[in-house]
Amino acid sequence: MQEKAQMKIPLLDLAAQHQTIAGEIESAVIRVLNSQQFIQGPEVRELERELALYCQCEFAIGCASGSDGLLLALMACDVGPGDEVITSPFSFFATVGSIVRLGAKPIFVDIDPETFNLTTESLERAVTPRTKAIMPVHLFGLCAEMDSIDELASRLNIPVIEDAAQAIGAEYRGRRAGSLGKIGCFSFYPSKNLGGAGDGGLLTTNDPEIAEALRTLRSHGAKKKYYHDYVGINSRLDSLQAAILRVKLPHLDRWADARRANAQKYRELFSAAESTSDRTVGLPFEPNTGRHVYNQFVIRVRDRDALRAYLQDRGIGTEVYYPVPLHLQNCFSDLGYSEGDFPEAERAAREALSIPVYPELDQAAQKYVVENIASFYRFRSHEKVS
Ligand SMILES: *Cc1c(COP(=O)(O)O)cnc(C)c1O
Repeated sequence: MQEKAQMKIPLLDLAAQHQTIAGEIESAVIRVLNSQQFIQGPEVRELERELALYCQCEFAIGCASGSDGLLLALMACDVGPGDEVITSPFSFFATVGSIVRLGAKPIFVDIDPETFNLTTESLERAVTPRTKAIMPVHLFGLCAEMDSIDELASRLNIPVIEDAAQAIGAEYRGRRAGSLGKIGCFSFYPSKNLGGAGDGGLLTTNDPEIAEALRTLRSHGAKKKYYHDYVGINSRLDSLQAAILRVKLPHLDRWADARRANAQKYRELFSAAESTSDRTVGLPFEPNTGRHVYNQFVIRVRDRDALRAYLQDRGIGTEVYYPVPLHLQNCFSDLGYSEGDFPEAERAAREALSIPVYPELDQAAQKYVVENIASFYRFRSHEKVS
């Protein structure tokens, strides 16, 4: 029997956000339609300028998606067959897909159970003479331990490519994601903190030669139209997307603050909930070295899939990022990895659950989420465990 009226809380409520800026978005779209400039053009140039400032970088270069951004970054670092790129086994597929598409070999190192980001101790052991790049992921909006990664990379003269797709606006010791390595890669996929009305991506760098290479590679390797110095790809940011993103960018910090406030509220609610005081629910790491932007609020739980179904029955949307670590994906069976190779990534894949943390989420909804998680475990603890 239901004790209370059921609420409906999606994992992310893009419609709620759109309502607050719908008028501005519509005039931006009409502005582009009237200009009939759909590819590159002034909207893209302006967005690139604004985002370079926002990310504290000299250069920002738009592209068609975050996945293409990773690919272009590796191409600009000349990664190809025979090379190795070190990365995390606990990420979205695009991270490793970009490496494999260029014929290079991904070398995984396990993650830190607290931060979900790759550990720097194991990084050093994974370096070989064939290491061509290191690709840390700022997972869920939390920057990787960049001091030790950058120290190792500069000692060995290996470029660092940040997969910052989930971390726009995140900070590490006062510096923004995207400015912490050689190249930063961002995604404007609608569920990211700065989401477009479709696909889009961005690259950031402080290196003028890399910036030039990225600009050339995204237009089929041609500096001058129809004169090709390299073989690049077609990966441009649409003017429509750029115009929409320019409307959203001035709100981004306020939205990140709202996500952070929601994360803080969850910490209070979970610590007050009686059945979670025995650490039934593991809460995400909050750094004292910078700003976590909580693209996801990821808890660690027992009986994760049962909890997820229980919450879904009560109108609460959740998601599992990510159910299969990258080294165990079917398409990589020929890489020679097997279960047990990266125990922390594998445990995270069993325990991680994203709960709603979007900026427009209100406190009543957060209470409802925490109460239902607590009641699931209260109910469970009365069951016989064999
Ligand atoms: C979203 C995402 C990407 C890819 O971005 P798309 O724009 O969807 O191609 C890459 N890496 C991570 C970690 C992501 O979350």
